[in-house]
Formats: sequence, C-alpha cells, structure tokens
Amino acid sequence: MGVSAVSVLPYWLSGCKKDQLGNFPEGFKIIVVGAGAAGLYAAKKMKEHGAQVDILEASDRIGGRIWKNDDFADFPIDLGAEWIHGKKSLSHQLAQDAGFDFFEDQGEEAFLVNGQIQNNYSSSILENIMGILDGDVSYSGPDISILQYAQQQGMGSQDFGILEYIAGEFGTSAERLSLLYTQREEEAWSSGNKDFRFKRTYFDLINEVVVPSVLENIHLFSPVTSINYSAEKVVVTIENGDTFEADRVLITASVAVLKSGIISFSPALSTAKQQAINSIGMDTGMKVLLKFSQDFWSATSLIGAENAPVYWNASWGKGGSDYVLSAFVMGTKAEQLSVAEEGIIPTLLNELDAVYNGQATASFLNGVIMDWGHQPYIRGAYSYSSLGIGDQRSILAESIGNKVHFAGEATATNGHFQTVQGALESGEREFLAMLESVGG
Ligand SMILES: Cc1cc2nc3c(=O)[nH]c(=O)nc-3n(C[C@H](O)[C@H](O)[C@H](O)COP(=O)(O)OP(=O)(O)OC[C@H]3O[C@@H](n4cnc5c(N)ncnc54)[C@H](O)[C@@H]3O)c2cc1C
Repeated sequence: MGVSAVSVLPYWLSGCKKDQLGNFPEGFKIIVVGAGAAGLYAAKKMKEHGAQVDILEASDRIGGRIWKNDDFADFPIDLGAEWIHGKKSLSHQLAQDAGFDFFEDQGEEAFLVNGQIQNNYSSSILENIMGILDGDVSYSGPDISILQYAQQQGMGSQDFGILEYIAGEFGTSAERLSLLYTQREEEAWSSGNKDFRFKRTYFDLINEVVVPSVLENIHLFSPVTSINYSAEKVVVTIENGDTFEADRVLITASVAVLKSGIISFSPALSTAKQQAINSIGMDTGMKVLLKFSQDFWSATSLIGAENAPVYWNASWGKGGSDYVLSAFVMGTKAEQLSVAEEGIIPTLLNELDAVYNGQATASFLNGVIMDWGHQPYIRGAYSYSSLGIGDQRSILAESIGNKVHFAGEATATNGHFQTVQGALESGEREFLAMLESVGG
C-alpha cells in the first residue's frame, strides 16, 4: 500500500488546522490532469500552499462527472452526482460552510413486485444482501456476485428487479458486483447513512466553492496524451503537441479512461499498476430525464422495473413547477437500453405506461439522455467492487517514484469510492502526500 494512501489524514478528519501545514518550495510546479472533483480540490489545496498549478482538462468544461442541465425544466438538474452521501463528509462540510441550501432525503420508495406497485415491501433475502453490502451483516464466503448469492439463497423471481436496483446503486449489474469485496470496501465507510439533496445542484457547490480559486489555472480542450517521468522533471504532452513540465503530476482521469490507454506513460506503467487499472470495475451508466405535464406517480421513487431499475422524482424538493422523472440505469441494463430497438425514451415510456395505465405517454413532453459511457473522457459511471478486486484500489493510489500521483474516486481506499466526497478526499490525500514529501 502506498504511503500516499495511508500515512496522512485529511484536516477535516484529523482536526489538524490548515495553518499547521507548511508550503511547497518556491517555484514548485504541479500538473493536475482532469478538472473533476478530485483534480479541482487538489489544485485548490496545492495553490493555497504555494505550488504553481496547471490543470489540464480534456473536455470543454469543468466538473467531470458533476454536471448540470439548467434549461430542461424550471429548476436545475444534476446529470451526474446528485446526493451527498453522509453527514460526516467533506462535501457536507463544504456545503454547510458555504451556506448552501440542501436537505435530508427522506423520500418514499415504492417497489414494483410482479408488475404491481407495493409500498413497504420487504424480503428477507434482499435485506440480508443489503446488510452484507453495507457491512452490517458479516460474510466470509467465496468471492461471488450478488446474483449468484441471491440464487443460492433461493431468491424468488419477483425480487430480481430490486436486486438490479441495489447493484445499480453500486454502479453495475447484479452479476458483476462482488458480494465479498463490496462488503470489505464498504466496512471502511465513515460518512454516516443519511443522504442529502441540493435545492440547486452538486455542480453549483463545486463551481462556486472550489472552482473560483483555480479558475485561472484551468486549460480546457487539453487532452493529455502522454506522461514522461523518466527524467527529474515530468513532461506532460497534450493532443496538439504542446508540452508542460513540472515537478509532479497528479492524474485524476477515471479508471475507465486509464483502461482505454489514451494516456501513454514513459516508462510504461508496472504490471501491478496496469493490473490494478484492469481489475477495478467501471461500467457504462445513464440518467434519462423525462418531463411530463402531470405527476402521475405516487412515491418519490419506483424501484424494480425491468429497463430502468429505479425512476425517481427529480422535481422533489426543487421548488419548480415542472414534473420530471429521472431514470437511473447502470451496467448491463444500460448496455441493453442504449441499443433498444424502439429507442431509449420510448422503451422507458412503455415501461411506465404498463405501471401507470398509459399516463406516461399521454403526458410526456420531452426527454434528455445523459449516457456517461459515451463521454470520451469519462467512459462510464463510477468504479465498483468487481469480482477479485482485492486491494487493487490501494495499488492504483500508489504514487510512482514520488513524481506521478493518482487520485479520483476509484483510488479511494477509505470506503468512499464512487462518491464526490471520495474524489475530493483523494485529491486532498495526494496534495498532503506531495507536501509531506517536500517537507512542507
Ligand atoms: C450518473 C451518475 C450519478 C452519480 N451520483 C452520485 C451521487 O449522487 N453522489 C455522489 O457522491 N457521487 C455520485 N456519482 C459519482 C461522482 O460523480 C464521481 O465519483 C465523482 O464526480 C468523480 O470525480 P473524479 O474527480 O474522481 O473524476 P471525474 O469527475 O471523472 O474527473 C476527471 C476529469 O478528468 C478529465 N480527463 C479524463 N481524461 C483526461 C485526459 N486524458 N486529459 C485531461 N483531462 C482528462 C475528465 O474530462 C474529467 O473532467 C455519480 C456519477 C454518475 C455518473
């Protein structure tokens, strides 16, 4: 396990005050690859402590997997991250300190069981699986998928839609999510169990609280194609051939981008590092926003449908007057939906029509498809605990030769992988590791 991953606690966990830290030596240069949560927050911290920072962002915008749509409805909607997961998190702290309007999510769930809507549905096998995944129920059996486990337990066919919803929350499908390693990784979760929603969006928080101090350091349209760390300085090349030289580089591109090989390394990455990249799961995923002229649904979310394992009321708590459902589809379900013969939106409307007596098509106004797998510099939703993942996140998080560092949600070894807070914390972790290594 890398020094960077374990030896330093972030201020907000350790109670250590910012002014107890020193500064980087004068003229110390750091290149941050990626202007998502991890890169932006790391850069903010580095700059506060005297480093010269360049943030190279491949796309035409900041935020990465935090993004919003402002003009689909009469309220802003998150296209990516939407909830703060847990009160004891850096995100919660940032939102609270900045006086952001956010509230605890206490929405009501409805379940689709054998084609019928049921409130307060319970199933002992599903509860057992949730308990294991959350780390509340112990499991020391073999490394099998949650689908295999459910089948072994004799789960009835009526529960498989809900099982896919559970897997979807973890960013994949039931057949791909490791029961054993999800539990092991989730055991470290320390943020608490409450979820919070923004009156505006997660994007607004990052854009208003983190971005301003590093705005002038961001280079958009700058896809990094190669990183050469063979000499004393690191040389980073972007697509148009321009090069940047620095003392350190912090890579925050998603693990799916690293898998794709669009960034080459010289010297080549070690076999262990490459294996870590290959082993950590990251599937495609999409959010589909559907706007209607009436709210024909009853609960805040509908769980267990075939094509979209969960639909939720995106209007809830936003204070607008438009009615919007958000379909959240991950893993194999997203792969199938993206090639649905009748099209993505008609497939979802048909599914809703069957549950709500044709009211979906009758009141449908407009739709937006946000397919994260097709974003060239994201290539999926978020990392998950795949079968056999073991401690590969720690290996991914290890820095190379005190020159090349890795952050981003997939490198979170504190149970907060998949989340914005995990990304922010990983950025802070690497900032602290760099500072510590120069005696600052
Ligand atoms: C649909 C969806 C819903 C989600 N819901 C939640 C939620 O409710 N709560 C929550 O906490 N989390 C949620 N997440 C996860 C959360 O959005 C991510 O964990 C987090 O935003 C990841 O931040 P990051 O900095 O690690 O990576 P990213 O956001 O992926 O940032 C990496 C950046 O690097 C850039 N980049 C990639 N390659 C290159 C290159 N070669 N050169 C230069 N730049 C490059 C990318 O363009 C990107 O801007 C959700 C994600 C999705 C997709």
